[in-house]
Parts: sequence; C-alpha cells; structure tokens
Amino acid sequence: MIKEISKILLIYTGGTIGMVKDAEIGALKAFNFNNLVKKIPELKLLDCEVDTVSFETPIDSSNMNPDCWVKIAEIIEVNYQNYNGFVILHGSDTMSYTASALSFMLENLTKPIIFTGAQLPIGDLRTDAKENLITSIQIASLQDNNMPVIREVCLYFEYKLYRGNRTTKVNAEHFQAFKSFNYPCLAESGVNLKVNKRYLLPPTTGKQLIVNKTLDNAIALVKLFPGVTASFLKSVFCSPNIKAVIIETYGSGNCTTAQWFVDLLKGTIQKGIFVINITQCVGGGVNMGHYETSSALKNMGVISGSDITTEAALTKLMCLLGKNTPKKSMKIAFETPINGEMT
Ligand code: ASP
Repeated sequence: MIKEISKILLIYTGGTIGMVKDAEIGALKAFNFNNLVKKIPELKLLDCEVDTVSFETPIDSSNMNPDCWVKIAEIIEVNYQNYNGFVILHGSDTMSYTASALSFMLENLTKPIIFTGAQLPIGDLRTDAKENLITSIQIASLQDNNMPVIREVCLYFEYKLYRGNRTTKVNAEHFQAFKSFNYPCLAESGVNLKVNKRYLLPPTTGKQLIVNKTLDNAIALVKLFPGVTASFLKSVFCSPNIKAVIIETYGSGNCTTAQWFVDLLKGTIQKGIFVINITQCVGGGVNMGHYETSSALKNMGVISGSDITTEAALTKLMCLLGKNTPKKSMKIAFETPINGEMT
C-alpha cells in the first residue's frame, strides 16, 4: 500500500504562541499569523503538507466564547474532506473549555483535532511553542493503513497528548500547564512518539460528521464553600431565564444538609431547572448516596456529573440544551458519556 502524505490544516485563533511584546506598553498582544510560519522554518521539514488559516483578528483566549467555538467548528466543517487532520493554536487559559466544547459539537469524528499553544511566545529564546506545535502536527498526521490513528479532540502540551474534554489548566507558570486527572494520557513524546492505543476512542465508521452549532448558555455555575449564604445562592438559582445550574460540591458530591439549601434545590428542580452535581476535587468524582450529605440530592433528581471536569460539564450542558434535549431525557443524556468525557 502506498503511504499517502498527510495534509494538515493549522488554525490559528490567537494566544501567547503567536504573540509579541508591544514595545510601548510592554504587554503581550496577538500578531499577524504569517509571521508565525516565518518564525518556524522547521515546518518545512515535516513529512506532511501544512496549510494555515487564521482568525481575522487573533484573540487572547480569555475572550473566547461560544460564537468563537462555532467559528472554529465551521472552519473544520468546510475543510473536513480536504485534510487528514487539524491543529488548532489557542491560548492556554481557556483551551480546555474550547477543546471540551468542540468534542461535543463535532459528532462522528473520524479525524484528529489537536489543540495546542504555549506558555512563552514563539520568538522567545526559551519558548515551548516549537515543540508543542511540531509534535502536534506530527500527531495529527499519524496514519495506520492510510487511516488517521487519532479520531478525537485532543490537547497536546509539554510532551503529553490528552483527551481534550478531560483536561484542566492547572499551572500559569510551569510549561506543564495541563492535567487530565481522571483519564490517562493518550500519547507521550519522548525519543519516540508512544501512542497508548487502548485509551483512544473506538472508531466511528460509516457515519457523516454532524456539527452542532447551537449552544445554549442559559446556565449558572456555583462553587459551594463553608459559610455560603442563602441569599447569595437564591440570587443565583432564581436568576431570570436560567435553564440549568451546575454546583461544585465537596468530595464525592456532598453538600450541606441545611433545610434552606435542600428546599432551594427542591424548588429549583420543581420549576423545571436542571441541577447538576460535580465535585470541586480535581480527581475522582460524584457518587451521590455514598454519604448522608448527598442522599437528599439523589432523591430529589439532581443530575450526577460523575468524574467530569467543570469545563466539560459546562460545554456538554450548553450542547444538550442547544439540541433541545427533552426535559425528561436530560438526566440520562447528561449522565451518559458522549465522547469519553466521563467514566
Ligand atoms: N492569555 C493567554 C491566552 O490564553 C495565555 C496563553 O496563550 O497561554 O490567550
């Protein structure tokens, strides 16, 4: 069999990887993407073809939002048939949110979508950008019998490839900025590139790519803390037009048993608002009913987020609400893994 050369589309959305220092104000700002390619002549040595496309105005990822996610999804949709894989350059701050969102927006994926970025700009002497970018392209172009090895949304950073919707940014200083606490990494880059094939999503064949572009952000996210007041929580749960509230609870999904809190949750669920329980812990997950302090939640119909990350919970919910998931199916829909985001 003749090996086909992979064609990769590099999509630049912004982020430190392509930033320069503004000499006048001393702050980092996004720069023209063409300069990025000039800064990495090594790209020409790769055993694949790389085309590039850039956001008209590259952004710091703190400005990411669902409209930008749709823009990225549409670039992939339009170019899907013409490329073997996609590498998305993105600021690290909200990369886990975007990677999670895309994992739910792109259904029946049969090609790799690799997110990457950098802690230091590409022009910096000690930059981590080159390794991240070059290895991401190599991973996206991996083939087995002319079929892509990776067929899911991933995040590559500092020698590790993770499932995108399992990641969280954990460090603003170290090059190792991301962690996947509840799922092993999919590949590791050392002297050789080692892919842990048993952890990859199984291939979906024969189905057409579906791109879900309607995201509903009528949701709230609250983190419980000892001393949280009833008036604050009421103001969140009773916000106008809210369709769902995600609560970050303690440990394996526990929360206060104070009557006002139980009544507030019951009243919220009776109004038809979904309540989702995820844990504040970075590792492990929710197991409602394990302790008395979570039994009431289970009995009143709170939805379990199991070991999902906050980033994946938010974006999965936006997608399920955007698809107009019927009220009676929401609990099952949320508690069922879509693309390996929960165990
Ligand atoms: N603030 C930057 C961003 O997220 C940081 C980075 O690129 O890593 O866009």
